[in-house]
Amino acid sequence: MTSPALQIGAHAVSPDHYIDGRRVAGTAHFDVHCPIDQRLLGRVAEGDPAHVEAAITAAQRAFPAWSALSAAERLPYLERFAEEIGRRAEALCAVESSDAGVLLSRMQHGVVPRAMLNIRWFARHALALQARTIETEQATHHVRHDPAGVTVIITPWNAPLMLSTWKLGPALAAGNTCILKPPEWAPLTCSLLADAADAAGLPPGVFNLVQGTGATTGAQLVADPRIARISFTGSVPTARRIAQAAGANLVPCSLELGGKSPFIVLEDADLDAAAATAALMYRNAGQVCLAGTRLLVHERVAEDFAQRMRSIVSQLVVGDPRDPATEVGPIIHPRQVERVLGFVERAVAAGARVLWGGQAHDFGAQYVQPTLLDHVRQDDEIVQNEVFGPVLTLQTFASDDEAVALANGTDYGLGGVCYGQTDHAQAMAERVRTGFIWVNSFGIRDLAAPFGGIKRSGIGREGGDWSFEFFCDVKDVVLPRQPFKASFSHR
Ligand code: NAD
Repeated sequence: MTSPALQIGAHAVSPDHYIDGRRVAGTAHFDVHCPIDQRLLGRVAEGDPAHVEAAITAAQRAFPAWSALSAAERLPYLERFAEEIGRRAEALCAVESSDAGVLLSRMQHGVVPRAMLNIRWFARHALALQARTIETEQATHHVRHDPAGVTVIITPWNAPLMLSTWKLGPALAAGNTCILKPPEWAPLTCSLLADAADAAGLPPGVFNLVQGTGATTGAQLVADPRIARISFTGSVPTARRIAQAAGANLVPCSLELGGKSPFIVLEDADLDAAAATAALMYRNAGQVCLAGTRLLVHERVAEDFAQRMRSIVSQLVVGDPRDPATEVGPIIHPRQVERVLGFVERAVAAGARVLWGGQAHDFGAQYVQPTLLDHVRQDDEIVQNEVFGPVLTLQTFASDDEAVALANGTDYGLGGVCYGQTDHAQAMAERVRTGFIWVNSFGIRDLAAPFGGIKRSGIGREGGDWSFEFFCDVKDVVLPRQPFKASFSHR
């Protein structure tokens, strides 16, 4: 028996799991609210141990046949999957705007095309993987990328569609079978992904969706010893729990976590361009892991830069993410609003100056003003911790060395931005300890390039070949050049 669909505007979304090629109703449910106006969007299935067991069993059963296909044979399935995502573009945009509060325009022009590409690009890239050899004096090494097995994918609420497909694409293309556990605050577009997988004719058990909360369903999934890989994007505390569960079973896990990325503005930077880019950090109401939220500005240009920032930030249009004029939408959850405002209040109490914003926004209960604070110190909570809201801090530096010390002076190491004359900015970028850093730009994400963080921002890299290194068992099949003569003195 399946449950009645939730009606999100004109679009029907199943609240059920999708296991072994069919919808499975929940025994318990959790509420999903709309961050725009707090209305209840519906109740979604909460996976219990029986659902987790069914999904793992189905994925295990589907693995031999799916993994036996060549990348070329898997390609048409995944091309169809991408097409079916495209067919649902309107629904995906409307639904993620409603459950995660993402700008509708960003869904239309950025996220949905990217979700399709995530599936299609990795499926095509897998074709090139199968024929790698290393020639040495002694042997030919045929380096195989064998599918690893049943893969668990766990994603956060700030970009559910983008991040789920970013992981599903390479995992499926590599020949793994997958179980996706979407975020409980924004689980609905992942349900539409299951519809797309079904319509694309992915064999039963190849893609499974188990809805549920992290502490229950998520924890059960990652603790299962039959899992071959865990790919997780989310917060540091959750990552610690997942790494412990993975460690108990010695299962490789990829952890893409939070950030507190520096945005360096050198004295020789184009200040207009730097300020226009810095304002992009308020995108998605600052709920973006890779945002450069710590503005580090050379003291000689700090006043000019701050003025430019103030004039841009003061004009940002805060409002309903479905309105094409809106630039900054809502915060995902009342708890998150409280958290963000708490950070600002404590920072101000500790001596920070509010250059702009600093309060709840009167558009609605889950809106926060784009906020810019200065007079903060490196060891302040607001400088050291991820706020995950529309809050930037501004610090100044007097030398390149000081800028690098400030940039590297947190426990995080995800991304960064450096604005300045190109050679100077590139040289500085090379000294910043993060997984990636953009020079005179922001947010360029090519699928062939590595993505991930260092320190508390994560373990491992995904993207391009790095995704396949993670989702595959790399195996060396060694063929000697000369007939092999067995000898105890032979090495
Ligand atoms: P979260 O860690 O609370 O939850 C992420 C996912 O983990 C959810 O699906 C949740 O249900 C699940 N989960 C929670 N506890 C679990 C457990 N014990 N076992 C298994 N699964 C569990 O994170 P969030 O609040 O949803 O997302 C925000 C965080 O994600 C921020 O820190 C942000 O920086 C980070 N993030 C990182 C990236 C990146 O690529 N580095 C991208 C986006 C978001």
